[in-house]
Amino acid sequence: MNELLHSALQRSIRYLETLPERRVAPAPEALAALSGFERALPDGPTDPGAVLAELDELGSPATVASAGGRYFGFVVGGSLPATTAANWLATAWDQNVAMDVLSPVGVRLEEVALKWMIELLGLPAGTTVSFVNGASLASFTALAAARHALLRRAGWDVEARGLYGAPELKVVVSDETHVTVFKALALLGLGRERLIRVPVDSQGRMRVEKLPPLDNMTLVCAQAGNVNTGSFDDFKEIAARARAAGAWLHIDGAFGLWAAAAPGRRHLTAGAELADSWAVDAHKWLNTPYDAAMAFVREPADLRGAMSNNAAYLKAGDRREPYHHGPELSRRARGVEVWAALRSLGRSGVADLIERTCRHAARFAEGLSAAGFIVLNDVVINQVLVSFGDAERTKRVIAAIQADGTLWCGGTVWQGHTAMRISVSSWATTSADVERSLAAIIRIARTTP
Ligand SMILES: *Cc1c(COP(=O)(O)O)cnc(C)c1O
Repeated sequence: MNELLHSALQRSIRYLETLPERRVAPAPEALAALSGFERALPDGPTDPGAVLAELDELGSPATVASAGGRYFGFVVGGSLPATTAANWLATAWDQNVAMDVLSPVGVRLEEVALKWMIELLGLPAGTTVSFVNGASLASFTALAAARHALLRRAGWDVEARGLYGAPELKVVVSDETHVTVFKALALLGLGRERLIRVPVDSQGRMRVEKLPPLDNMTLVCAQAGNVNTGSFDDFKEIAARARAAGAWLHIDGAFGLWAAAAPGRRHLTAGAELADSWAVDAHKWLNTPYDAAMAFVREPADLRGAMSNNAAYLKAGDRREPYHHGPELSRRARGVEVWAALRSLGRSGVADLIERTCRHAARFAEGLSAAGFIVLNDVVINQVLVSFGDAERTKRVIAAIQADGTLWCGGTVWQGHTAMRISVSSWATTSADVERSLAAIIRIARTTP
């Protein structure tokens, strides 16, 4: 074990040390070499050292360098040093955070991290949490709590009786609600299409004046951080209407809610604290390793009502038992890396991470505009949309940038315009990375026909 883990350590260090100079998308030869994994199921055991060597030699070159400083695709953070290190130790611990008796340390770290996040994100005191694997499952979890609460008020026990014959819920989304919320609604039997869609403005914000009448059987899904523009819905206004009507307000704040932790950006999230539930990723803007996210629910009884699960051998203790607060039973100790991120950064470190990445995004927007390209969004946080001309030309530039390997960005269609998305979400991105990437984008865009 000793020699094996030292080898893993050496290989990991070598990987991380060479990351800054690697191409961001793997080279075609590295992808071709993945065929080396395609062997018949081994008849018998192999020395673990040889297994690790094969993994490193074939696998490492074929990774996407998204842990480095020049990956700007989707919304992808890196892993803060303290979180990578904590993740290794927690892997050695191999804790199952289903319940307190299985991992007192795992549960305790989640509770500490919860308190800190309530403070940083400005959530109401007493809010509870489920640590899940991503914002998709966080929205699923929070919306299950919403379904429970709304139907219970109508005298319907949805966990016992299902939706057959249940009173109808009205679900309000916007034209820019993230696809994962639609999936969560579909999984919860609320339907992908049986929804009221509110139109959005030029930045993708819900047009509040177009909200339908709300009532106490309505579930409203709003958004902190549009995946393309980074924009925020008007939570103050939406929450005021939801509260007056007794509706449930859920906020998908996968990355955007972290803006609340930076004094210069906090105004964007104003009113978010008035919601009933929030979905927030840790593996995006907080920069923990995959996979970690939180479903926050204002009223713990609503989450427990949706998620509690009793069996004689699963005896609940007095503490906040994770499996009564989320969809999973056995799971890894996700709170460890969230705790480590917050413990290592502190309040000012989180604020700096958010501000710094936003400043890098602003620099991209400024540099690209100055070079004559069109920035399509108001750059309010870490997201930039840029067009290089018509759709076909923009697609060719994106493909050339990806093939060049200096950086990686993906494409999108924003309100009819094909665009390249730049999302600056990693702690590892430096000003030098931004300048080098900007120069590469401009060079490639100018030379692409
Ligand atoms: C990424 C994202 C999600 C989904 O998060 P996962 O962690 O990938 O499950 C949901 N909503 C928004 C706005 C996102 O950016």
